[in-house]
Amino acid sequence: MFIRPAILFLFGAMACANPGSTSTMDTAPSSTQQDNPYYSRTDTTHLNVSDAEWKRILPADVYQVARQQGTERAFTGKYWDADGLGMYYCAVCGNALFRSDSKFASSCGWPSFYQALRPNSVRYEEDKSHGMIRTEVLCGRCDSHLGHIFDDGPPPTGKRFCMNSIVLDFEADNK
Ligand code: FE
Repeated sequence: MFIRPAILFLFGAMACANPGSTSTMDTAPSSTQQDNPYYSRTDTTHLNVSDAEWKRILPADVYQVARQQGTERAFTGKYWDADGLGMYYCAVCGNALFRSDSKFASSCGWPSFYQALRPNSVRYEEDKSHGMIRTEVLCGRCDSHLGHIFDDGPPPTGKRFCMNSIVLDFEADNK
């Protein structure tokens, strides 16, 4: 009578720790790069762009997450189980955010990283929405909402950057 719940819990814990990952990477240019004069992978100057301008430039689904603190549905984004080697950039402005070697397999349904590329790649704000107290992660260059950070990540940082695929652009090393 007591064994079944224990087994189910163990299985669940194992699934969380190592869900496996075999998908290929989508390296096609993002539609957000087209007709976006602010997109740059080399210019790290902080941007001050109006919300109206971002709404005009960005695809509606990117705008909804990046500028209105939206969240894509779990297990629907293009990078949650991706495991190729390369760099993840902000899909809104091109700022380099994460190396693939800081990405880890997480069963949460969103791409997860244990550290940002540089300390100022991202910045943080307290988020008290939806009845929770969380730490929001924003792009350090364009202030777009990327996701949240939690304290249940793996070593060496123990952090979990829980990001939305739709605001990330991946470029493989061997492109
Ligand atoms: Fe950005």
